[in-house]
Amino acid sequence: MSLTFFVGMTVSKEINIKGLVQGVGFRPAIYRMAIMHCLTGTVENNNKGVSIIIEGDKKNVTRFINDIPLRTPIASSISSIEIEDKKISGYKDFQISKSTSESNEITEVSPDIGVCDECLEDIKKQHNRINYAFTNCTNCGPRFTIIKDLPYDRAKTTMDVFPMCESCNSEYKKILDRRFHAQPVACNNCGPHYSLYYKGEIIIDISTIISTSCKLIESGKILAIKGLGGYHLSCDAFNENSINNLRIAKNREGKPFAIMFKDVFSAKKYLHISNEEEKLLTSWRKPIVLLKLKIDISASISIGLNTIGVMLPYMPLHYLLFEKLVTSSIVLTSGNISDEPVIISNEDALSTLGKISDGVITYNRDIYNRTDDSVTTVINNIPRVIRRSRSYAPSPLDINLRTEGIFAGGAELVNCFCLGKGNQAILSQHIGDLKNLETFEFYEESVSRFSRLFRFKPQLAVMDLHPDYLSSRYVEQMQLPTTKVQHHHAHIASCMAEHKLDEKVIGVSFDGTGMGDDSNIWGSEFFICDLADYERITHFEYIMQPGGDAVIKHPWRMMSAYLNHYFGKEAENKYPFLFKGIDEYSLRTVQNMLTNKLNSPLTSSAGRLFDAISALLRVCHSSTYHAEAPMRLESVADPSIAESYTYSQYKILSFKSTFVELIADISNGTPLEMISGKFHNTIVNVIIDTVLLIRKKSGINKVVLSGGTFQNSILLEKVEMKLAANGFDYYTQSKIPSNDGGIALGQLAIAAKRRELGRFDL
Ligand code: ZN
Ligand code: ZN
Ligand code: FE
Repeated sequence: MSLTFFVGMTVSKEINIKGLVQGVGFRPAIYRMAIMHCLTGTVENNNKGVSIIIEGDKKNVTRFINDIPLRTPIASSISSIEIEDKKISGYKDFQISKSTSESNEITEVSPDIGVCDECLEDIKKQHNRINYAFTNCTNCGPRFTIIKDLPYDRAKTTMDVFPMCESCNSEYKKILDRRFHAQPVACNNCGPHYSLYYKGEIIIDISTIISTSCKLIESGKILAIKGLGGYHLSCDAFNENSINNLRIAKNREGKPFAIMFKDVFSAKKYLHISNEEEKLLTSWRKPIVLLKLKIDISASISIGLNTIGVMLPYMPLHYLLFEKLVTSSIVLTSGNISDEPVIISNEDALSTLGKISDGVITYNRDIYNRTDDSVTTVINNIPRVIRRSRSYAPSPLDINLRTEGIFAGGAELVNCFCLGKGNQAILSQHIGDLKNLETFEFYEESVSRFSRLFRFKPQLAVMDLHPDYLSSRYVEQMQLPTTKVQHHHAHIASCMAEHKLDEKVIGVSFDGTGMGDDSNIWGSEFFICDLADYERITHFEYIMQPGGDAVIKHPWRMMSAYLNHYFGKEAENKYPFLFKGIDEYSLRTVQNMLTNKLNSPLTSSAGRLFDAISALLRVCHSSTYHAEAPMRLESVADPSIAESYTYSQYKILSFKSTFVELIADISNGTPLEMISGKFHNTIVNVIIDTVLLIRKKSGINKVVLSGGTFQNSILLEKVEMKLAANGFDYYTQSKIPSNDGGIALGQLAIAAKRRELGRFDL
């Protein structure tokens, strides 16, 4: 009788895990599980992910394997687990091996993680971490923002200049410690520290920094504060005066500011927060969540909108500030002037933000990768990412296509680019509007940093049809085999890639602008498409866009164009009240353009129709930031209204009757909320009626919706509900923005598919 009979059967397995498994405390968690189940073996990071060899009693090994998805760290995510039998090697114990980096395959870089509760406790209790605002552990802290290269090790982060003290080093080495192998581990004795630049002095004592900063905020002053991915500008969220001063200083006339609340409890006094929204708000990513106002916090923050961007503290410093602050909320907006990239260098912060603030809180650890706060919203109980940056980037997306070597340049106004590795799409953090020189430099720098970090060698490149997009020009100068992708096809492909769809679908792509293959401006497209090709089935009728891009700042120009289109020159005589308040000279110029078809490209954009209606209702005549007119129109709408206006469908979609009925409602004195509600319902009907017709003709039951217009919560909520009621399988974006921030993913998927079909225009 052998000994193994008594102790159960001994087995050995090799387990390979891919996904977001490095830099998130994965190996120590595996170690603890192995010890718990009395097993031996090894765990190591390699460039494919995490590799485990586990040996011991068969039942315990099974339990260990079952535990992996349940007991691994909060910020990790497993994309695949492969298990193979192995010969028994007779390990004496369980060990964590050093990182190896022999292969060219690279695994995921963890995004930054908001400070955990245990670290917040350490700040109160641990003698070397009292008020230490850089406290972190394997479960929390900075990651992507400080990583310069892989494999993830302290020496390859901006923590490389801070040698660990003895006490930190012993935690770092102790396998059962929460800080075991936490690369940014630090304490008051060895790590980075904050400084406050105030009135020509530099304060370095943290308690004095906190108390002085709180006094400044409470007395209505503006502070610049270094965050995880860049600087913020901050002031009391309840102080109208300070907010207005900040607005002037930042040169940001109308754009709403994001705010940070002390905690969910205080946020609930002012905001409606559903369970799903609370989950998102308090998640480790700590994104900005767009929430509906209960009571207005301050008119100068929301500027007439019924929602506001809210986040909760995610750095120890935020907690330290709120402990002393009387106010429960502060503005925390990106530290930049206008639309330039958020400032990350201490020098720039002192010279630029120093001038427009009363004090600058900085620290002496570099931010290597710039990130903005991510922005999210919850629609139909599903979280949707609108701006994908801090704590989301650079997590890749698995798509069911070989993407290796493909570079997708993205769009222009809301740019993100995308790299292909294996079957993954690695989207950059939100870059911004490439037309700014500084933003374009950020784009170039990020492309080269991502390429190095992910060992990316471009073989093929993708660009938008628009030759003048700066991203298109960038792709062209790469001098690689290139494929061109139509903007709205890319929106649909982005949503398809997110849901791993690879078949013919009905695509509904609504947004503000994108070049069509007939050189007109598109933006209300109904396609039958797959990943490689599209057929344009129908769209809104073409309307002149007087002055081209100038309409974006002047929605009333689109109103004039629509009225001129449907009622001719008579529009002004017929409906003089609609033109009230428009400067006579500008109006004549626009009317002249429309009559003589001068400098007026044609557009089928849904965004431009929303602009026109917003101006018609005097909700927004002139716009001070991107998409202000549609946002205001949504904000005034009563979503409980059931009525709608008529429209006509004959090959293309036309809105003459919509305008006639809507103007009649204005003349009748119908309330604004009702008119806007009816207009939203009209667009819902247009979408549902049209996809029903397309399904009837094509037999296709899958509908894919994307494009910035679907950030409109009333529209998306109602469209999804009606698609479900009509038995459609429908797909909308959640992890990836439906705005132009998601375009690069769609471009990548289309190129991958075309390459698979052997159709890349080589
Ligand atoms: Zn922690
Ligand atoms: Zn230390
Ligand atoms: Fe778009």
